Amino acid sequence: MKLYNTLTKTIDEFAPVNGNCINMYTCGPTVYHFAHIGNLRSYIMEDALEKFLNYAGCDVKRVMNITDVGHLTSDADSGEDKMLKGAKREHKTVMEIAQFYTDAFFKDCDALNIKKPETVVPATSLIPDFIHMIEVLLEKGYAYQAGPNIYFDTSKISNYYALTGHDEDQLRIGVRDDVEEDTNKRNKADFVLWFTQSKFEDQALKWDSPWGVGYPGWHIECSAISIHYLGGALDLHCGGVDNIFPHHTNEIAQSEAYLGHPWCRHWFHVQHLNDHGAKMAKSTGNILTVSVLKEKGYDPLVYRMFCLSSHYRKPLEFSYDVLDNMAATYQKLLGRIAALKKDGEADPAQVEAYRAKFIEQVGNDLNTSSGLTLVYDVLKDQSLSDATKRAVIGDFDQVLSLDLLKERETEEPAADEDLVRLIEEKIAERKAAKKAKDFARADAIRAELAEKGVIIKDTREGTVWELKK
Ligand code: AMP
Ligand code: ZN
Repeated sequence: MKLYNTLTKTIDEFAPVNGNCINMYTCGPTVYHFAHIGNLRSYIMEDALEKFLNYAGCDVKRVMNITDVGHLTSDADSGEDKMLKGAKREHKTVMEIAQFYTDAFFKDCDALNIKKPETVVPATSLIPDFIHMIEVLLEKGYAYQAGPNIYFDTSKISNYYALTGHDEDQLRIGVRDDVEEDTNKRNKADFVLWFTQSKFEDQALKWDSPWGVGYPGWHIECSAISIHYLGGALDLHCGGVDNIFPHHTNEIAQSEAYLGHPWCRHWFHVQHLNDHGAKMAKSTGNILTVSVLKEKGYDPLVYRMFCLSSHYRKPLEFSYDVLDNMAATYQKLLGRIAALKKDGEADPAQVEAYRAKFIEQVGNDLNTSSGLTLVYDVLKDQSLSDATKRAVIGDFDQVLSLDLLKERETEEPAADEDLVRLIEEKIAERKAAKKAKDFARADAIRAELAEKGVIIKDTREGTVWELKK
């Protein structure tokens, strides 16, 4: 497939280099709070990527960490420990918080048809690996001890900013305003590999280490977990764009310093979900969760479809209006699919031809919205039997995961293909009438459709319709 690579800043051909296998690492959630639907946008798109690679014939070996230690409220190693903050807020232990929010995360993933990666690793389960990696970095001269902590020396890396394409001063703007300088650092960009107890008096989770009792920095976990489970040559590393700096930049620095050779060849980053123009973030407290959407009556798969209908490299603005339209679109689509006759045999050649189209279109930088459009093309294609349509749609749904063929208890009333065509013609005619200020004709068309049991609604995105229940 063709896939944008943050490292090369171009859309590269992405294919397995080792037999048919792709090693894929995903930065998992920091489990001090519920995942918000912004976080879940990243996980939905990563899920679609994994499933697409499978669909195209690759074996994907995927690992995800769970950040249950070391992530401070500022990505630049200052501020409170996020896990401790969560534990205090809820009067629970850090491990209770970690377990509760890890379970909640996978429940949300389930509701959104996000497949759980085959290997999920809590950071606290691999502390000896982190310590070993830090020891090697110290031995090789990439790390130093200063004051109470062990730091990575970024001046030892000639292309430290390779992933960002920007230098330190440009990156500081807007990213680190609230950060107090750590005078132990030799260089501004240096970061902590290991904190000792002097950082927080009441640090809950601490481990013995050659440098005193303490706990790991956030970045080391992803390097060590990835190398432990996927080896020293990683094919694909994923996360949201906010992970590019400093997290992924630091992962590359320490992994390559440790290994002594290049590490990950392809970096995939998902743009943010925004709310009122700003990134949805756990730290602001102003977050929307899958539970909130459910309480408001939305099927979580409507949110999945909303994400799939937009390109992962474009910021996505959340609004209930758009979600309402998506809910109507989803219901209509399910209705059209449910109306397809279930008997008969699919034509394998036609299924194969559509599969090739899907691979070509979605394989163009994970263009999931083209994949959705293809579903409509299939429904409209008069050369396909209903059985073939169902087979093709079921095949696409291996990637889209919108439960398109699932039998539902309360099916929406279904419109047959002829009615759908008629409705679309009438809506176009009504639009032309309104444009010509012939409102009487426009009203007559609305009434005519109502008689056929079709309700139309004008929205900002155009006219939508549904069948009377
Ligand atoms: P966290 O739990 O904060 O470590 O973040 C989990 C994942 O969500 C990371 O890959 C982040 O880059 C990503 N992420 C955070 N905020 C957003 C957002 N508003 N939109 C999309 N992805 C996000
Ligand atoms: Zn990570």
